[in-house]
Order: sequence, then C-alpha cells, then structure tokens
Amino acid sequence: MADKIRVTVWNEYRHEKTDQAVAEVYPEGIHGQIASFLGAEADIVTRTATLDEPEHGLTQEVLDNTDVLIWWGHMAHHEVQDEIVDRVQRRVLNGMGLIVLHSGHLSKIFRRMMGTFCTLKWREAGERERLWVTDPSHPIAAGLGEFFEIPHVEMYGEFFDIPTPDATVFTSWFQGGEVFRSGVAYHRGKGKVFYFRPGHETFPIFFQAEVQHVIKNAVRWAAPVNGPYNDLGRAPNYKANETFEVTD
Ligand code: ZN
Repeated sequence: MADKIRVTVWNEYRHEKTDQAVAEVYPEGIHGQIASFLGAEADIVTRTATLDEPEHGLTQEVLDNTDVLIWWGHMAHHEVQDEIVDRVQRRVLNGMGLIVLHSGHLSKIFRRMMGTFCTLKWREAGERERLWVTDPSHPIAAGLGEFFEIPHVEMYGEFFDIPTPDATVFTSWFQGGEVFRSGVAYHRGKGKVFYFRPGHETFPIFFQAEVQHVIKNAVRWAAPVNGPYNDLGRAPNYKANETFEVTD
C-alpha cells in the first residue's frame, strides 16, 4: 500500500446521461461526487472509472494501483464483461478492498463475491430511512451516533439474499415498515468487502454528511494490510521448517 489510500470510484454512468433529473442531482456523475468528497481527505487519493471506457476503465494496471474499489451500478450490470469481473475478483481475493453501493447489490462482482442471488424487496416512494448502528465497535461506525436518517430514499427490504455477514454494521428501518441489513462487512481471501445500501440516483444521498462519513470510514477499513501472502491463488508444496522424523 502506498502512503495514501488509492481509491478508484467505478460508476456505470448511464442514468446521468439519459435522465435529466439524475444529471441535475449529479452534474459530475455519481462517481465524480464520491471522488470529490473522498479526494478532499488528506490520506486518500482518488481516480474514477466508468463502464464505457475501454476495459470499463479497470485495466490490470489500474487495479494493481488501487487499494480500494468503490462500485455503483444499476441498469447495465449485464454489460460488464466477465473477464473484468474475474480480474476484479482476483484482486479482491489478494487484498484490494471492495465497497459496493446501493443497486450494486445485483452487480456481477458483488454476486460473485457473495455466491448468492443478492435479491431483495424494493419500493420507490421517497420515504424516510433510519439507519441504526448495530455493531458499535466496528471501525465503520466510528464517530457516528446511535442512528442517522436519510429523508428520502428508495426502500430496500428483507429478505436480502446474502451470506451471513461477518459484521452487520447498520440495520435500517423504513417508514413503510420494512427492515434491512444496510451495512454488511465480509472478509474474502485477503480482501475486505463492504456493502452499503444508500445511494439511489434520483436523491442527493452522496451529498449527505453521514453517508460520506460512512464511506470514508469504509475506505480506511477496507484498505489492504501490508501482511504476508501476495498471491493466495498459489497453493505451494511446502517444505517443513524443521527437520523431523515420522514414526509409527
Ligand atoms: Zn435505486
């Protein structure tokens, strides 16, 4: 890992080009807004990548120089090439952090990392969401109160078809009555994965201070640790550290 955490913000970047209402909320694109508030942090440096760039902006060179990849996608999950998904998965398993936002729950990469359908219930009514901190000792909850609210959201409800998380940092309540595991953390190989629910494209959610705070905490938590093992894809035949005899 370099001195600063190198974050690549990946966005499908389609709604902003085809829907005027979304373009008005995110004139720089969702990726531009996320890269902007992260890039203002002294310990973080950002770049962006989008679906329509060659190799979706995720060349091996870009991934090799990424500590944490943030993923926002919705309407074009199927257009992401499987070869790129393979490449991202391999980097995560070897230590790159992955933060998947909102409708990225159905992205190829998140489903690959989870191994389940990752389906859920949803409703677009602009209702209120209250996110309760349900793992107060987790680094992603640092600096938050017991809960925070987002005034207008798209609802995501249980059952959320994910494997049992290593940590459930947030659990949401919605005005309509549903609940949802809205901030879930996993270890996969040498890498860490965090799914964070908020972020529907028609609401200015990535401008909200608490949401930005969570994503900054998640970047620092997901950043690689400079520990042993550079390629967990290798399964070496291992010589004993000491000489020994095997007896009957
Ligand atoms: Zn949405």
